[in-house]
Amino acid sequence: MGVYAVTGSASGMGRAVVVKLTAAGHRVIGVDIQQADITADLSTPEGRRHATDGVLAATDGRLDGAVLAAGLGPSAGPVRIRLIAQVNYLGVVELLEGWRSALAAAGNAKVVAFSSNSTTTIPAVPRRTVNAFLSGDIDKAVRSVRFFGRGAPAFAYAGSKIALSYWVRRTAVTPDWAGAGIRLNALAPGAILTPLLERQLATPSEAKAVRSFPVPIGGFGDPTQLADWVVFMLSESADFLCGSVVFVDGGSDAYFRASDWPKPVPLHRLGNYLLTGLPQMMGTRHPQI
Ligand code: NAD
Repeated sequence: MGVYAVTGSASGMGRAVVVKLTAAGHRVIGVDIQQADITADLSTPEGRRHATDGVLAATDGRLDGAVLAAGLGPSAGPVRIRLIAQVNYLGVVELLEGWRSALAAAGNAKVVAFSSNSTTTIPAVPRRTVNAFLSGDIDKAVRSVRFFGRGAPAFAYAGSKIALSYWVRRTAVTPDWAGAGIRLNALAPGAILTPLLERQLATPSEAKAVRSFPVPIGGFGDPTQLADWVVFMLSESADFLCGSVVFVDGGSDAYFRASDWPKPVPLHRLGNYLLTGLPQMMGTRHPQI
């Protein structure tokens, strides 16, 4: 049985993951701003340090996996924009960087970070917002979305999740992560009926936007089903999953973006493979096709 850290453990999908992992006999260290083994405010540097150190202190230097579910939805409010940016991006990246050695010590640790299908369904998220997140400049990320007025929280939210998804994919394949046996992936849910979504549905203007959003399969997702996806992504069955962003969203991403992906990789991205493997693949039958 393994030892897992779960952020956002007090509510919604994080809570559902804790219930499933505990029922399966694993030890779970819950992190949240309320009702958790480690109470920490992930919007502050001190809180993130407390969460990082607290989890490490509660293990013997080995962590079999981590689930990063703490997050804030795209609800309105000027203070909220900064909180969204801090919790949704730094509250994942800084903790994972702090836990990397303990994850590597497990040999084949698995990590699931919560992204969102907002990453591909909210239009015109500024590139500079995403870049500001990726460089860790939260002030700049917040400034870059203010222009959108009442829409700013949605852009801060989508920007934080896009940047997080890029960070996951870029980091997952590096020697320090994949090379250390850590499988780092993201889950991108659509609208899932948790307290986060219930709060949006209780606000008339937000409820209208949520209810009119196209979901081909209809309705909302079930948090316990999303927890099953997380548990699967933490299991041995996911040994070959690395750097993936798994969409579980009732079809909304496919509805808007059916032909945007997959796309052939541009030649300049191939690096050494352009000179080594590619000529062979073009000249002979590729063994994997
Ligand atoms: P939720 O509100 O039920 O749970 C989020 C948890 O994060 C709560 O327990 C809350 O206390 C914790 N949290 C919030 N701010 C914190 C802080 N400053 N420090 C520490 N903990 C803090 O939400 P959920 O719907 O279960 O969302 C889980 C994740 O899934 C989030 O990252 C969210 O962005 C993402 N997501 C949710 C949906 C959805 O429709 N519910 C869709 C896509 C993505």
